[in-house]
Amino acid sequence: MADTVDERDPVEQISDWIDDNWDPDLTLGEWWERLADSGYAHPSLPTNAGGKGWSHGDSVRAHRVLAEKNVVGPPPGLGTMLAAPTIAAHGSQEQIERYIPDILTGRRAWCQLFSEPVAGSDLAGLQTKADADGDEWIVSGQKVWTSQGHHADLGLLVARTDPDLPKHKGMSYFAFDMDQPEVDVRPLKEMTGRTFFSEVFMDGARVHNKAMIGARGDGWRVANTTLMVERATIGAGSAGFPIAAPGTKANQFGRRVGDIVEGASKRKVGGHAPGVGMKLYKRWTELAQSLSRTDDPLLRQEIMELYSMLQVNRWNLQRARDKNQRTGGEPNIAKLFDGEIHRRFRDLSLRIVQADGMLGGASSSTDPAIAEFVLHAQAPAIYGGTDQIQRNILGERVLGLPREPGPARDTPFSELPKNV
Ligand SMILES: Cc1cc2nc3c(=O)[nH]c(=O)nc-3n(C[C@H](O)[C@H](O)[C@H](O)COP(=O)(O)OP(=O)(O)OC[C@H]3O[C@@H](n4cnc5c(N)ncnc54)[C@H](O)[C@@H]3O)c2cc1C
Repeated sequence: MADTVDERDPVEQISDWIDDNWDPDLTLGEWWERLADSGYAHPSLPTNAGGKGWSHGDSVRAHRVLAEKNVVGPPPGLGTMLAAPTIAAHGSQEQIERYIPDILTGRRAWCQLFSEPVAGSDLAGLQTKADADGDEWIVSGQKVWTSQGHHADLGLLVARTDPDLPKHKGMSYFAFDMDQPEVDVRPLKEMTGRTFFSEVFMDGARVHNKAMIGARGDGWRVANTTLMVERATIGAGSAGFPIAAPGTKANQFGRRVGDIVEGASKRKVGGHAPGVGMKLYKRWTELAQSLSRTDDPLLRQEIMELYSMLQVNRWNLQRARDKNQRTGGEPNIAKLFDGEIHRRFRDLSLRIVQADGMLGGASSSTDPAIAEFVLHAQAPAIYGGTDQIQRNILGERVLGLPREPGPARDTPFSELPKNV
């Protein structure tokens, strides 16, 4: 891991580093190892956790260079996005060293075991229980919507350890081993035709006390770090570099990185709907021009509204990075923007291709990514907390409006009415 301090601008630093280190003949495993050792895999992590301690803004700027230079990005997925920052913030140094290097080198893939069939928006109502058994905890319950659960080696698990405490106080947070006979991961098929998430059934699975992140009963506080990181990252969009799946199950470590880059440049669709941002805006407006649709005043207006939203979202993110300007609500606002921008891109794309949209990828006049995008566009307003929940948080925590009515917050969880 990097131990010298470089005072140059982050963009200049990473740019020089890529020029000196990128080699298309490396295997993916070698490249990720090199990137992790440099501290550039996740530069906003603190230096004791394999990062450079950069601000989120500097890290985003630096990672755009990876995209511009068209090199394979760091291991994607929930390990890098959620597990590493959460463990860096709440884990002991021993836990940081146990988990984070394997995330930054892609050796282990992670999933997020938060949502349950009756605890999504009301996450603090979760019922998966962890009962103490010596140095271990015995975990039973069901999670759902577990993105990449079928590829994960480890999961960020929130479970109820003290049902007699009030619901926000009786939860604990664990780094949970997915490879146990008592863990049954059942992949689900989405309407996009892909299998992105699973349901996970745990029946007497085990997790050691050493894998508890934060203190017993601190799970809600730790989970809120994960959720804030998730919202801010979702709202900031993706850098757009070529990627490959991490983890032992995907097992892509032997692939040549040059081939991954080449494959990504050829692939227009498949695997992921395109990310929302100026690149997609340009792609969609060029499509409108090529189909001679830009004389339509309503379409022109929609294009301008979308452009304005992209700019306002950018300003919101800039404000989030400035500690003298921010209100604390910026990640929630960014998350709301992300959902709305997806919907606007979806509607705009359908207005551009008109009836050709029914032909999906088969029509020569349409962009084949549209069908995939349109089917996926409902998801961003739900994952990471729905639009309504973002508005509740903004109302209650930022604007200081009265809390939603409900049982007293100190009521023991075991005495609360349950959804089932
Ligand atoms: C693509 C995708 C990937 C996901 N990946 C993961 C993952 O990896 N791990 C994970 O743990 N979860 C994941 N989720 C789950 C996601 O976090 C939940 O779907 C979300 O929190 C909503 O919970 P729910 O589906 O149970 O809806 P519910 O909570 O049942 O909500 C139903 C509706 O009621 C509204 N509502 C609920 N409560 C209130 C309230 N108090 N005020 C106003 N309106 C309210 C909601 O806004 C929503 O419209 C994923 C979801 C999607 C779509």
